[in-house]
Amino acid sequence: MELACLDLEGVLIPEIWISFAEKTGIDALKATTRDIPDYNVLMKQRLAILKEHNLGLTEIQEVISELSPIPGAIEFVDWLRERFQVVILSDTFYEFSQPLMRQLGFPTLLCHKLEVAEDGAITDYKLRQVDPKRQSVKAFHTLNYRVIAAGDSYNDTTMLSEAEAGILFKAPDNVIAEFPQFPAVHEYEELKKEFLKASNRKLSL
Ligand SMILES: [Mg+2]
Repeated sequence: MELACLDLEGVLIPEIWISFAEKTGIDALKATTRDIPDYNVLMKQRLAILKEHNLGLTEIQEVISELSPIPGAIEFVDWLRERFQVVILSDTFYEFSQPLMRQLGFPTLLCHKLEVAEDGAITDYKLRQVDPKRQSVKAFHTLNYRVIAAGDSYNDTTMLSEAEAGILFKAPDNVIAEFPQFPAVHEYEELKKEFLKASNRKLSL
């Protein structure tokens, strides 16, 4: 039994916070964990900026619904789901990703959750667990699934290591250089081939 685990942002959809910052013109929202390494500090700052601009969940989802998956992503997910059980493991929040997940046909997504007040204001967030991507792969192993995983960044590397096969997709050069043990590809057609190679079944394009 084989499961395909995919990262979401950078693999199937654009980086949500960066796209949101570009759409709204709020440059302060472009900060990432590269600028502020402590994720909790970064998230508190993001929520404070949203509040300052009076942006509640409804306004945010409206902006996000104007974004599109990466060209080719919808077709790729359809292709993958015909050959593997697909689970998306992401560090995003259900509420943010929803408009884009709709365009992908709502594949299974394990991620985090926001706390939203009745007036739509985002008051807090709940991370599901520590190192959630690796923990998910470990859990799938207890269910006797063999896991093939693909992701683009540092927060994916524990998932890629824990899986039977890990693939870097659209990763930046520094990540590729630091993790030479993983094959690295940039196009969906190449990614399909890596999944076929990593599978222990005889599958075809
Ligand atoms: Mg990513």
